Amino acid sequence: MVAGGGVIGLSCALHIAEEFPNWRIIISDTATRPAVTSRAAAGMLAAYAEFDGDSKLFQLSRQSLEYYPDFMARFHLGTKLYDCGILIPALEGSDEGADENANLASKHAEATWLEGEALRRAEPQLSCRRALRVPGSIVNARLLHDDLVKRACEYGITFHSGRVSSLERNNERIVAATLEDGERIACDHMIIASGSWSQSLGNLAGIDLPVIPVKGQVVSVSAPDGFLRHMIHAHDVYLAPRAGEGVIVGATMEEDTFDEAVLSDVNQQLLALASKYVPAICNLPIRDSWCGFRPKLPDGAPLIAWQGSNLLVATGHYRNGILLAPITGKMVTALIRERS
Ligand SMILES: Cc1cc2nc3c(=O)[nH]c(=O)nc-3n(C[C@H](O)[C@H](O)[C@H](O)COP(=O)(O)OP(=O)(O)OC[C@H]3O[C@@H](n4cnc5c(N)ncnc54)[C@H](O)[C@@H]3O)c2cc1C
Repeated sequence: MVAGGGVIGLSCALHIAEEFPNWRIIISDTATRPAVTSRAAAGMLAAYAEFDGDSKLFQLSRQSLEYYPDFMARFHLGTKLYDCGILIPALEGSDEGADENANLASKHAEATWLEGEALRRAEPQLSCRRALRVPGSIVNARLLHDDLVKRACEYGITFHSGRVSSLERNNERIVAATLEDGERIACDHMIIASGSWSQSLGNLAGIDLPVIPVKGQVVSVSAPDGFLRHMIHAHDVYLAPRAGEGVIVGATMEEDTFDEAVLSDVNQQLLALASKYVPAICNLPIRDSWCGFRPKLPDGAPLIAWQGSNLLVATGHYRNGILLAPITGKMVTALIRERS
């Protein structure tokens, strides 16, 4: 049984279903706003912009990025992956954060600096002295989530609407989960993939999962396809083009709150930051805005591991759960295989 129907729970469930076709797999999720975070994501697969090349997280993220096309093909996911690349701007003058950010990323062997006419040709809307180009793709996270749910149904995975509210144990094993409506579901294995809500699931299971939510608000503006050719990943804001849906500008980083309020003055602040890099963004009409809650563990890295004889945890994907979903499903399945 998988507690959580976001991209992480779904990727785990699909990989397990493929490897163990005779297993009965159940996903439970809340009835209201399931996968709110997975559906809120900008969908950037930004391994090269988020991590420096020496970090373990970069290696994991790069593996997931490389696996993405096979993952999509393996589960017949129709959502398009756009291999548009990322530009990390360096600004004129006093904004040291911008230069630091770009300099860090420039250590990747695949990074190339663009400036002058070459930069203007590559990204006409971008206004900065120079920018670093690194590999990166983007996917529409809402369509990806819809697609994963559809495939899961086709694989015979069943969805139960309702939060897991208690877990039943027999010695070390979790033998059943009860949902908030009282339904009892017996299980051989339990996977906690409940994103920012994993701490309370950990409490039910008797393990410490100090995941906190980091709220992110984004705003999208209407723009024709091609307005931006790349994702723009600056140190204080990003601009992510979404085919047919304009450009997403994000995101706030608000620790330890589940406040669902989406504020119009925050949208204006995001757009003001974005206009430092793409001045024309301020002339575009706001299309939508929303928020989600990134699941963060104290070290900022995900936990993908056994935490009991039949309890697995896959949580804490923080800013990069869309990127890391494919490799997480693969890793969880490998962990189960080792013990089967
Ligand atoms: C604004 C924003 C932008 C982002 N942009 C990107 C991006 O560009 N690229 C990227 O890679 N990542 C991005 N992320 C991060 C990414 O969205 C997350 O890391 C990822 O969605 C986490 O997935 P998840 O499945 O762990 O969590 P979720 O999607 O939150 O799914 C967990 C599910 O568990 C359910 N649940 C909770 N409690 C229980 C319970 N007791 N029983 C059963 N189910 C329960 C919840 O309702 C939820 O549906 C962004 C996040 C935000 C907020």
